[in-house]
Amino acid sequence: MEASIMDGPKRRCGAVSGLTTVKNPVSLARHVMDKTPHSYLAFAGAEEFARKQGVELVDNEYFITEENVGMLKLAKEANSIMFDYRIPTLGTCGGGAAMESPIQMNGLPISVYAPETVGCVVVDKEGRCAAATSTGGLMNKMTGRIGDSPLIGSGTYACDLVAVSCTGEGEAIIRSTLAREVAAVMEYKGLNLPEAVDYVIKYRLDEGKAGLIAVSKNGEVACGFNTTGMFRGCATEDGFMEVGVW
Ligand code: ASP
Repeated sequence: MEASIMDGPKRRCGAVSGLTTVKNPVSLARHVMDKTPHSYLAFAGAEEFARKQGVELVDNEYFITEENVGMLKLAKEANSIMFDYRIPTLGTCGGGAAMESPIQMNGLPISVYAPETVGCVVVDKEGRCAAATSTGGLMNKMTGRIGDSPLIGSGTYACDLVAVSCTGEGEAIIRSTLAREVAAVMEYKGLNLPEAVDYVIKYRLDEGKAGLIAVSKNGEVACGFNTTGMFRGCATEDGFMEVGVW
């Protein structure tokens, strides 16, 4: 697992990668931000830091679910790395495994491997923005592979204008520095948040690869994606709540 967090106005950030026992990787990323002179800790050093900080640790078995073991098997059989695996509506899948009951929602196939990334962007009443992202990465990824989620500027970014968290195929997000790009077009092109999000999804991101959620210092909320769907929600302190998939 890997994660990162960024406090916009203070330009502080923390990130962690290569974790196998930390229950809540974002909490550890926050400790990196608050309690070390560094921005990013990984693998054995990050696990050791977790033990010293006393964050909640669990046996690695905790993360292994029957569903994910099944999806990993399918991914291996299909020799594919999956970030958004959908049950085909007809016939076979991957290496030929027959899928008996395609799951549909509103007539569209729903992802059975929901991307494991959880991202959050917030703004307070003073207009201070922050972002955090946490993930188990891609199904069937290579050992040692690091995605976008712990990379500040790619999967996560916050500044005095905006906070952004991304999900999808990490490699595409990394090569477009997607989260920072939203802030950059706001800063340099003077776009508002919805315009900035539309711009980066259209001009910076490879088709069908990813999405993002964002909030600006003025409280504008925006999301954008060029995948079939992206699980998302929005809540405000006066009780407004909204969720979306497609
Ligand atoms: N972005 C994550 C990664 O590439 C995966 C995801 O969003 O589900 O590691």
